[in-house]
Amino acid sequence: MNTLPLRACLSCGKAIQGRIDKKFCDDYCRNAFNNQRTASNSKVIRNINNALKKNRNILAALLGDRDDTIKTTKQKLIEEGFQFKYLTHTYTNKKGNIYGYCYDHGYLKLDNDWFLIVRQKSV
Ligand SMILES: [Zn+2]
Repeated sequence: MNTLPLRACLSCGKAIQGRIDKKFCDDYCRNAFNNQRTASNSKVIRNINNALKKNRNILAALLGDRDDTIKTTKQKLIEEGFQFKYLTHTYTNKKGNIYGYCYDHGYLKLDNDWFLIVRQKSV
């Protein structure tokens, strides 16, 4: 006689009795698993949102109120905690230069690790 493969509950890890397609011991384990997954998804999103806002605030602080553009260095951005992997969108100008944006502030990589910081014109 064939024995069913042993399956473990995705929530608590205990062996599951019953139907072959069952993934959880019971509703309690199903809910616990789904709540955990929702919480960890929310955490990922929150962390990325925070990184984007931080990037935006770093660009805004470097730019200040007076200027529309300013030059800074990659080193300076990294020192401030800027994370280049997080951006909301890009903008390509007529010359083909690609600006990376964090919300309403952006940057363009120049030669020799210099960066141009810009503020988006009113949207
Ligand atoms: Zn379980």
